[in-house]
Amino acid sequence: MAVLVTGGAGYIGSHMVLALTDANEKVVVLDNLSTGFEWAIAPQAKLVKGDVADEELVGRLIKEHSVEAIVHFAGSIVVPESVIDPLGYYNNNTVKSRALMAAAVKGGVKNFIFSSTAAVYGNPETMPVFETARPAPISPYGTSKLMTEWMLRDSHAAYGLNYVALRYFNVAGADPRGRSGQSTPNATHLIKVACQTVLGQRASMDVFGTDYPTPDGTCMRDYIHVSDLIAAHMDALAHLRKGGESGIFNCGYGKGYSVLEVIKAVEKAAGKPVYHVLVPRRAGDPASIVAGADRVRDILGWQPKCADLDLIVRSALDWEMHLARRNAA
Ligand code: UDP
Repeated sequence: MAVLVTGGAGYIGSHMVLALTDANEKVVVLDNLSTGFEWAIAPQAKLVKGDVADEELVGRLIKEHSVEAIVHFAGSIVVPESVIDPLGYYNNNTVKSRALMAAAVKGGVKNFIFSSTAAVYGNPETMPVFETARPAPISPYGTSKLMTEWMLRDSHAAYGLNYVALRYFNVAGADPRGRSGQSTPNATHLIKVACQTVLGQRASMDVFGTDYPTPDGTCMRDYIHVSDLIAAHMDALAHLRKGGESGIFNCGYGKGYSVLEVIKAVEKAAGKPVYHVLVPRRAGDPASIVAGADRVRDILGWQPKCADLDLIVRSALDWEMHLARRNAA
């Protein structure tokens, strides 16, 4: 029996592969290496280079390795990019997920865990936002993931494919043992960009929008450490394996920080200023989004251990310094 991890060479997927192999699970990684790195994959896992939409390939892997669960990370993740290239996002995140699900159903895979996103909520009417809120994405990225949630819901009802969709809030930080971290060279996510700026890899960074209806005018997000996010996946896998109900779970801590607060945290961690320029809003950004995260604790038994912005930023900064040394070597 094995777990198939799509996108297992990527930032979050590689942390899942580490957690699974640390727990002595058999793991097959399916990744096209378009943004991921072979070095990020735990050596105990088997890497297959290929496309998640290749139904024949996935069918073969399911059979050969007796795949009992699929954890599906592969996809595109940049909100503003999805506004510019919606059809690319619908292809990568929706069409390809449909093919993967079809192969899972055909191959008799029982359990499916899916990387969804808080972006399905758009600008929620109440905060924190719970899973019961009506989804109303404001970016093609959010819509592309929401459609996959719907396909899972319907496939569960029709074919008995059991699933957990985890709606990630803003993920940051790295493996505490330094084995993986966010390594995309042109990453656009806030904590990564702020760390690169404080280390002098960027002359300065932009703060997108200072006129949002938030206390300091900049957007608020709920930042979650990648280790805690992966713990939620491991809890989800255990839950499905013991026959737990399928469903959707927010993954965040329930506390929001503004862009300027994140920049301050990076300055504090590095002891240096983060040069930044205040610029107009970026397309597709909701003003504020904070998780109502009771369900993941109550039903999956999730117990986060790193719910502290300073700790998350420290972890991200340590990884960025590690990467800089690695790239210089
Ligand atoms: N952001 C910013 N400057 C950057 C990157 C991000 O001001 O260089 C802001 C962005 O506009 C959003 C927040 O930081 O309000 C979080 O953005 P990120 O891309 O990290 O994650 P998202 O919430 O879009 O998934």
